Amino acid sequence: MDGDGDVDPGRDDLPLRANTSHILVRHYVLDLDIHFQTKIITGTVVLFLEPCPVAGDGNGAGEGAPTPPQPSQTDDSWEDESHREFTLVLDCCDLTVSKVEELDVTSVSDMQGLLREVKGEGSGVEPQPDSQSAVLIQRLISLPSTQWKKQHHLYFQCSHAPASEGGGPLIFHTDRWSLQVRKRGVRTLQEFPRALRVCYETKPEGGSVRWTKDQDNRSCVYTAGSPINNRALFPCQEPPVAMSTWQAQVRAPKECVVLLSGENQAQPTYLHHTGLSSWDYYVTMPMPASTFTLAVGRWRQATAQLSTAQLTLPVQGTRAGASHTHAGSLDLNPFTNMDHPVISSPQSTLVYSGLKDEKHSESDCSGLGDDNFTCCHADYPCPFTDPSAWSQEVVPHRMFAPPSLLQKAQVQILPLLSGCLAAAHATLGVHPFPRLDVLIVPAGFSSLGMASPHIIFLSQSVLCGERDGVGGERDLSLCGSRLCHELSHSWFGLAIGARDWTEEWISEGFATYLEDIIWARAQQLSSEETEEQSKLKALLRWRRLSDELQNSEEQLQILRPNMESTGQVSESGSSLVKHALNPEKTFMQVHYLKGYFLLRFLASKVGQECFLHFFRLFVKKYHGQLILSQDFLQMLLETFPDMERQGLNLEAIYADWLDRPGIPKWLCEGSAIWTQTRLVEEVKAEVAKWIGLSPSVGKGRKRKKAGLKVNFKEVMPEQLVLLLELLLEEAELSVTSLRTIKRTYDLQKQDAEVRHRWCELVVKHKYAQAYGDVEHFLIHDQAMGVYLYGELMVQEDSRQQALARRCLSLVQNEMDQSARRVVEEMVL
Ligand SMILES: [Zn+2]
Repeated sequence: MDGDGDVDPGRDDLPLRANTSHILVRHYVLDLDIHFQTKIITGTVVLFLEPCPVAGDGNGAGEGAPTPPQPSQTDDSWEDESHREFTLVLDCCDLTVSKVEELDVTSVSDMQGLLREVKGEGSGVEPQPDSQSAVLIQRLISLPSTQWKKQHHLYFQCSHAPASEGGGPLIFHTDRWSLQVRKRGVRTLQEFPRALRVCYETKPEGGSVRWTKDQDNRSCVYTAGSPINNRALFPCQEPPVAMSTWQAQVRAPKECVVLLSGENQAQPTYLHHTGLSSWDYYVTMPMPASTFTLAVGRWRQATAQLSTAQLTLPVQGTRAGASHTHAGSLDLNPFTNMDHPVISSPQSTLVYSGLKDEKHSESDCSGLGDDNFTCCHADYPCPFTDPSAWSQEVVPHRMFAPPSLLQKAQVQILPLLSGCLAAAHATLGVHPFPRLDVLIVPAGFSSLGMASPHIIFLSQSVLCGERDGVGGERDLSLCGSRLCHELSHSWFGLAIGARDWTEEWISEGFATYLEDIIWARAQQLSSEETEEQSKLKALLRWRRLSDELQNSEEQLQILRPNMESTGQVSESGSSLVKHALNPEKTFMQVHYLKGYFLLRFLASKVGQECFLHFFRLFVKKYHGQLILSQDFLQMLLETFPDMERQGLNLEAIYADWLDRPGIPKWLCEGSAIWTQTRLVEEVKAEVAKWIGLSPSVGKGRKRKKAGLKVNFKEVMPEQLVLLLELLLEEAELSVTSLRTIKRTYDLQKQDAEVRHRWCELVVKHKYAQAYGDVEHFLIHDQAMGVYLYGELMVQEDSRQQALARRCLSLVQNEMDQSARRVVEEMVL
């Protein structure tokens, strides 16, 4: 956002340096200690490596391939040698690496067994590595998924193996974006070590890890969902093609909970000699290293005493995972809520009944494909091939929050979780991840939510105020729809990832489209109610999108900025992610919104039921893999050949939706219909009543008194958002109107989306009596407050500017880095 905000590739594009076309990390073993006092994580990461089968054939490199970035610091002696010795390049920044060593895995006695038993198991074709150590690692990596337990045990044992004797430690070099490793005298990939240990520590200012305070002012740390992903947490291969498994052992003060993207529900082991607790997690499904997530803090687990009847009533043939899980963890986990009474939820609003019944409509699309399939991904223990996973509507889950928010989390989110998980299962099929933790992250988190394997971060802004009673059920809509959004990412974003990170719409557009469907299903809305709400949401998103497209740079509005070069990398595997470091892009929603409308458009061509049936087929085929836009679109066009007969082909979709800035044609023409629905008509009628009260229509006491008698209709939160947006278009609103609006809708107790619009109204009309509401929003809803600072500054009102500065000074230190940079530029 400097000057006119021109995009500067040198500053805005994120380099991915790892040479993944030569060699791949197949497994990480992390061993970490969390030090809150120094804000440092110390530890080791052990990498198990496998050379690529046809290393260096430049797979995918084409004319349009991005140039690999040059190291920012040039060390002549290091560069000279690069011509002679093989170099492993890892993505890494802001880490202090002290040592890199080759491991002597031949000294691990359990490994010797691999020499005997694996003989002949499918490895006949591959060239055998020279050293015994390399043979052992290759066999370890190649163990079939049925032996994953043994494999993980051996990985763990190897990670503690001594360094190889002879040759000493490996030589390494770091620059701004990478860690480069060589072994003296080793010129070829085949001779390069297969198991390395990197000893390192993080830096307090590193962008991957946020050291901050929770809502109860106690220290915590979590991976921030930064644009640089995890490279300031551990050296890794960042390109998504480098999919790997991992296991991690994390030690932290015993009062802390350690949450991590692992498929096991870890329990701590108390270490008497240090007074610390140790937590072990692992995954068996290979995932990009960027999806690894860690959170350590003094959070508490929310527990629910929901009766079995409440949770599992009409479900047939399921493992009712939720209630059983909670009953179990109640006794076992030392971090359960001990000093709060266990709350039984008064509003278990969601039951599963009927979720199955909706499947009847699948028969409409029965010609689309059969249910027999085989997995197309690398070998791992896949839930899609496990019949018991297919019938599991709700996976085991835990909910964590700081003590001061525990009760809200317990009452609002925990009861929603089972219903939303079941609705997601009914919509998309088998859960790709066998369990889930949900955490309310600190106030400085810059987004409403973030999904990672086995763990979802939610902002406190999704929790609603004290408002309950009338319409209480509906007040959960922000919370519920956001939860459904993050759950959708288990399928789109995680189980199926974008091969090229610039195609963010593949995860965000899908999750935005699916959140409405899953949330409506979780609430068991009738099809009429679902349709009405869907149109209202489409209208709100359309208004948001058109506003954003008018006020942002064209380059940032394109969903497939690399166009036909999308997915291409350099000969070594390195690439640049366009605009990834542009702070302005972080706060844009174009990938969410335009992606959502593209899916809505496609659904309108084939009908929603068939479209969702197609999603399930697509998930069966592509889970565990990375995709480009074309993989989805091509399969869709093949499945519904009528679309091409109507003139809709891949090129047309690219041209109108993905490769160009601005508003696609269908959207320009089609958006009018969203204003013609009952829910929107109701809002317009309410808005007319309020405008009738405004000073330009009539002044004086009489009018005021008349106004107070107007009978305003109760509206749902999304309607209220629209109502306030429409009022925001009015040039004038009297103080009396504003006061009455606030009171009529009990605005201070509404959800954060509603309160955001209210704050905009307050700022626009300089309604000083409600400045406290703006201040509260900027402090407690940091995930949404960034643009409000801009609005406070742009009016050139000294009182408003002082308010912006005061709020910034209060939260500056806990703010997310990108948000802080953007806001500081506006305010200071
Ligand atoms: Zn599978």
